[in-house]
Amino acid sequence: MSTLRFQAIKETLNRPRVPVDESQRRSAIFGQNVFNEASMRQYLTKEPYESVLNATQHGIKIDRRIADQISLGMKEWALSKGATHYTHWFQPLTGSTAEKHDAFFETTDDGQAIEKFGGGQLVQQEPDASSFPNGGIRNTFEARGYTAWDPTSPAFIYGTTLCIPTVFVAYTGEALDNKTPLLRSLQVLDTAATSVAKYFDKNVTKTIATLGWEQEYFLIDKALASSRPDILLTGRTLLGHASAKGQQLDDHYFGSIPSRALDYMRDLETECMYLGIPVKTRHNEVAPNQFELAPIFEEANLAVDHNSLLMDIMAKVADRHQFKVLFHEKPFKGINGSGKHNNWSLSTNTGINLLSPGKTPKRNLQFLTFFINTIKAVNEYEELLRSSIASANNDHRLGANEAPPAIISVFIGSQLTKVLDELEKVTNGKLSPEEKTELKLNVVGKIPEILLDNTDRNRTSPFAFTGNKFEFRAVGSTANCATPMTVLNSIVAKQLIEFKKSVDALVKNKGMKKDDAIFNVLREYVKESKRIRFEGDGYGDAWEKEAKKRGLSNNKSTPAALKAKVSKKTIALYEDLNIMNKVEIEARYIIKVEEYALRIQIEGRVLGDIARNHIIPTAIKYQNILIKNVQGLKDIYGKEFKKLSKEQMKLIEKISEHIEKINLGITDMIDERKEANKISSSEKLAIAYCDKVKPYFDIIRYHCDKLELLVDDELWPLTKYREMLIIK
Ligand code: ADP
Ligand code: MG
Repeated sequence: MSTLRFQAIKETLNRPRVPVDESQRRSAIFGQNVFNEASMRQYLTKEPYESVLNATQHGIKIDRRIADQISLGMKEWALSKGATHYTHWFQPLTGSTAEKHDAFFETTDDGQAIEKFGGGQLVQQEPDASSFPNGGIRNTFEARGYTAWDPTSPAFIYGTTLCIPTVFVAYTGEALDNKTPLLRSLQVLDTAATSVAKYFDKNVTKTIATLGWEQEYFLIDKALASSRPDILLTGRTLLGHASAKGQQLDDHYFGSIPSRALDYMRDLETECMYLGIPVKTRHNEVAPNQFELAPIFEEANLAVDHNSLLMDIMAKVADRHQFKVLFHEKPFKGINGSGKHNNWSLSTNTGINLLSPGKTPKRNLQFLTFFINTIKAVNEYEELLRSSIASANNDHRLGANEAPPAIISVFIGSQLTKVLDELEKVTNGKLSPEEKTELKLNVVGKIPEILLDNTDRNRTSPFAFTGNKFEFRAVGSTANCATPMTVLNSIVAKQLIEFKKSVDALVKNKGMKKDDAIFNVLREYVKESKRIRFEGDGYGDAWEKEAKKRGLSNNKSTPAALKAKVSKKTIALYEDLNIMNKVEIEARYIIKVEEYALRIQIEGRVLGDIARNHIIPTAIKYQNILIKNVQGLKDIYGKEFKKLSKEQMKLIEKISEHIEKINLGITDMIDERKEANKISSSEKLAIAYCDKVKPYFDIIRYHCDKLELLVDDELWPLTKYREMLIIK
């Protein structure tokens, strides 16, 4: 057997377990490494403490003088925890996180050594930003961007570094990160949702979006992962024949977690506790070696930060346990890929979940208002929503025989469908007292507090209502949630602003009562957004045909899906709401398009290399063994040899055929790459990589995988699926 593969398997099977310390109660360690309200109270005097709270809760700017005081308290706290360095922690448009550590340590003019950290360092930094993607916002000669403290997400200590969540902005004012547009969208949504919520309760002064993500991932032994160049370089297997036993028996889903994986999870969750990430559930997923982790939901900005942080920690803890975490949306062909469900809702300062039905008709009319407005928003902007989750990786899931499809639709369950059907019948204009009573008692009043069929049963829906929140399920497992959440917040905000305008107009111009006006507007929305509602099976061709009839988009590839990011409609949306300007919108589009082409280019190169330099030589080696065998039979049996070597001859020919197909495929693929690389427009380049280069992947893979079935197992160089997908 190839030495690397053999060694890797042996190492994996002999792995000792890594001891995990869980001696402390989780509630006791929760948030210990976070500069949260408790530690602020201890380390800050009243004025700075209150100014941080005001910034968090009301977006009130923090005075520079106060920032100096905050930084002092923060430094004392960090030093008491053993921190030696600090960093501004931000999320550039690569989608991951970035940091640059500076020591607190400094020397003074008279040669003394001190620990220093002032308001200046807390509030603003200037990382050398020239190497982060900027989509043309800054020319490299003026590559100046700065990071600025985001007090709404608390500072934390990871390892020995104080990390300060920040936004990342160009000196020209444009956002260079994912966080800035998210924060802007949250603010706009707050204003819009609060003014609608005031229809029902005057005490509402603030509304936040809540997010609870569910992170799926694969765990692979480190040695096995390292034995596969495709996993190391692209995060997924570019070839490999399916194992005889995959997920067909469904015996992994919610099964008992293998002990090594469980050790990893316990260790990981302990780290999360210190960092205040409220992880709650863990379980096996559908595919072998696939798992999921989900926290208690939080305010969306914090939840996004926590997800980004979690992904970093997951990789680090995995290393300690001799694992590699695969976040890729489709690491293995033929078995389930990974997603990151984004559970989203709206919550008021009065403690009400606006997407949760309640006990009273009034509460339920409020629920219906937000529920229907969200559906309407998704109906209007389904294509933009689809574009927010488009990536080369996610293309393997969406619309590629794995739920959910590339068509965005909303699932609400049969109980709520009935309610919306009733609402559709509401009289146009003023409602009679009888109708109002009927509506309030029997339609709105009858919405149960707990919706029984609000279920996970329809697993194929990309956007499902699940009882007290919407669940956007099409988000990819590697995604930064900020992007889809920015879209969702923005479109719902826009929708709520329009809703309020319409209701107020009916009240003012038609003399309607507020409730009548709300019913009237909602009725129209229910009618107008019918096409987006779909309760059936999202797999199959039937839905594709139906969706086409309904005029819903079905963008199966990333280059096609991304276009909606820069449509006139999108630009108008973001500009009207002051969430992004045209430059920022276009920059994000260019970055995504370029990233797509680069990924496909890298995959193409790696696939070509493995197929030509690992697979073909191995096939030839085995073919030579067969040839020698045939030759030997001829030497011994003379003329008789033909009968005796019939099967060997067939194998020899088959191998030659596959080698030929692989080699031709690679040559053609390289030619297409060369052609594509002449294109100067990023958009056209991405399309060329999608339509011209990528189709060769399947052809090359097919023949490599066939060879895997023919060639002597001892000779095969790559760790096989059945060997990678084991954990003791
Ligand atoms: P399950 O779907 O596994 O039955 P839940 O419905 O309780 O479990 O929650 C699934 C996910 O939804 C969790 O990550 C949870 O934090 C999140 N979630 C629950 N309620 C909300 C909410 N109001 N806003 C945002 N996310 C929520
Ligand atoms: Mg879910």
